[in-house]
Amino acid sequence: MKEDLTYEYIIAGMGCAGLSLAMQLKESGVAFNRVLLLDKDLKNKNDRTWCFWTKKKTNWFDAIVFKKWRHFSFKSDGFEKRFDLEPYAYVMVRGLDFYEYCLTELKKDARFEFITDEILALKSESEWAVLNTSTQSYKAQYVFNSAFRKLSVKKNQVNYVQHFKGWLIESPEPVFDEACPVFMDFSPEQQNDCRFVYVIPFSKTIALVEYTGFSNRAISTTAYNEALDTYLTSNLKLASYKLLESEQGEIPMTEGDFTNPYGDRVINIGTAGGNSKPSTGYTFYFIQKHTEAIIQQLKNGSKQFKMPVREKRFLIYDKILLDVLNKKTVPAKKVFTALFQKNDLQHLLAFLNEESNIKQDLKIMRSVPIGAFAASAIRKLI
Ligand SMILES: Cc1cc2nc3c(=O)[nH]c(=O)nc-3n(C[C@H](O)[C@H](O)[C@H](O)COP(=O)(O)OP(=O)(O)OC[C@H]3O[C@@H](n4cnc5c(N)ncnc54)[C@H](O)[C@@H]3O)c2cc1C
Repeated sequence: MKEDLTYEYIIAGMGCAGLSLAMQLKESGVAFNRVLLLDKDLKNKNDRTWCFWTKKKTNWFDAIVFKKWRHFSFKSDGFEKRFDLEPYAYVMVRGLDFYEYCLTELKKDARFEFITDEILALKSESEWAVLNTSTQSYKAQYVFNSAFRKLSVKKNQVNYVQHFKGWLIESPEPVFDEACPVFMDFSPEQQNDCRFVYVIPFSKTIALVEYTGFSNRAISTTAYNEALDTYLTSNLKLASYKLLESEQGEIPMTEGDFTNPYGDRVINIGTAGGNSKPSTGYTFYFIQKHTEAIIQQLKNGSKQFKMPVREKRFLIYDKILLDVLNKKTVPAKKVFTALFQKNDLQHLLAFLNEESNIKQDLKIMRSVPIGAFAASAIRKLI
């Protein structure tokens, strides 16, 4: 008998967005019989660590939260502060915990099927979305795609990346404040750019230290290694340290659009669906919100599936900040220092999660170097 390769939904890519969608779908009460998930990788490596902040009492993936903090600190020239985050928490989920947890839970539900293969093409036909691998063609009412990212950037648009390398290190001495990650430390040489370090403590002796830049391209591995070693030995004054793990990556910080050339039966999700916040690169929290909106549409039984969109005003703020970073009329370090020094932290966190109100937004805008922001606003809006 010929194998039936038709599904209600296909999830193309089993990373953060694909597995988040499958997990929410499983719990949603939406009626379905067959969902196919595909990825070219086995998702069995700890290839990333997600951090985000939230004030919700319960969150997706609470079961696998690796660490949660109620404080973090910010450090720059002439301003250093340990912030109380309440009612927010800064939360960390490790990539491998996430993949293993989602796959274990989903495999208990016979409605989900899994294939490890490379996706070669996606397209929409009148009744179906079609996904092709080198050997098979699969059909579904909708394909949710995080595998293919097609970015379209116009000539005058800023196309930055948040680029970083992180070392999980162990110090022989107890040097880390276990209760307080360093959210941004602008001590590293800025090199006419935006460079800072995150320090995420796992214990008093173990921390993930990430050297990060916001700019139009990443730097060499040697440059990351030198910068990390300088930070550990000169700034943190570690006499020695042991390297346990390493992660490296780039997250888009772009004014460009992630396009969908696959037709209206393919729905882009994850970074491909525009969920990497252009001004910060933070994505995990936005993926969960986007997924909730998708599930709501499926619950409503929408005939014409519409892509959930972000509020326009936040897209405009992001464009303006990216333009300020790109024009370098004011050092990035000065902008971020003003944001953390002059604002109520809880409002700032709400603003960065796109959950603030206009009154809070206006106050935040008044806190940044006004000349540079006014010039960028004029450039971007007119
Ligand atoms: C190292 C790192 C650390 C990060 N840390 C944070 C953080 O702390 N906080 C935060 O908010 N964001 C963070 N991000 C950004 C963002 O949250 C992640 O990139 C997130 O994984 C994006 O989810 P996604 O589903 O869009 O993409 P991915 O998780 O990358 O998933 C895409 C999937 O598609 C598969 N795929 C690709 N092409 C094909 C193909 N042709 N065929 C089959 N499968 C394919 C890939 O194997 C992958 O599994 C980080 C990113 C990186 C790289």
